[in-house]
Amino acid sequence: MTAPSEETATDGETTDREETDERGSPADAFAALSDPLRVSILRELSAHHRTTGEEAVGFADLRRRVGVRDSGRFRYHLNELRDRFVEKSEAGYRLTHAGVQIVAAILAGTYTADVSMGPTELDSECSACGRRAFATCEDGRCRVTCPNDHALFQWSVPPNATVGATLPEIVDLAEVLAFQAIEQALIGVCPKCYDPIETRIVTNGPPRPILRAVCDTCGARIVGPAEFCLLVDPDVTAFCRRHGLTLRDDHVWEFPFVRDDAGVTVVDQDPPRLEVDVSLGGETLSVSVDERGHVLEIDPSDET
Ligand SMILES: [Zn+2]
Ligand SMILES: [Zn+2]
Repeated sequence: MTAPSEETATDGETTDREETDERGSPADAFAALSDPLRVSILRELSAHHRTTGEEAVGFADLRRRVGVRDSGRFRYHLNELRDRFVEKSEAGYRLTHAGVQIVAAILAGTYTADVSMGPTELDSECSACGRRAFATCEDGRCRVTCPNDHALFQWSVPPNATVGATLPEIVDLAEVLAFQAIEQALIGVCPKCYDPIETRIVTNGPPRPILRAVCDTCGARIVGPAEFCLLVDPDVTAFCRRHGLTLRDDHVWEFPFVRDDAGVTVVDQDPPRLEVDVSLGGETLSVSVDERGHVLEIDPSDET
């Protein structure tokens, strides 16, 4: 059995990038949010949309909602948000797409919450050494490892999702988020910013073939064992379900073909092409995967 290395753990981290677009630098964008009153304006625009179903709200209404008497002061701060986070339509003021995103991040606690939990033992064993797996959550990142430091899984979780949740629940959520992200990346859409993203299988370097995708726009990074591509394929998941294994009830590192990469063969290097044997309950699926991580064909059931 090959121990999963640090490189085979998944990672939904966003890297820091200094980039400017037509609306100015990220530093300018955050400077526009430097006053708590401006954050209140964004929150109230969002609350108005949520409660009334209408996006736009008139100047006077908005000022009342935010609770500012001085209309000159209110107008000044509202103008500082204009174009980037707030736009004016005939019906009044409303959030831009960037405004909606930033409010969602503020409400999710992305910029304020600092959650640190664990280590907590899980009801699961390390696939590499058999010792009890444990989870930690630090700085928005959930990690599963073991006393021998085998990296089994890691993924980011939004801070608000960790409030009132136990670590095993957070691990379950992180797995769902990871597989949603992989599914989205495999159809060519960045799970963070929705710009195009390209997945590829890397066969040289790491101890085992990996799936990798890095977004040119937002820097989001997905790295995981190549076998993860199989876990979002309907035929493979149906086969696993038939043998009593589902991502809903079982952890990703417990799937035999993820746990033990002996069934993974690199049949071509350039472009990479893999053959993965999924063996469960005496049946084997032979799955062929292309250089993007897409499942090409499945040879059903050899009796073994
Ligand atoms: Zn271990
Ligand atoms: Zn992106």
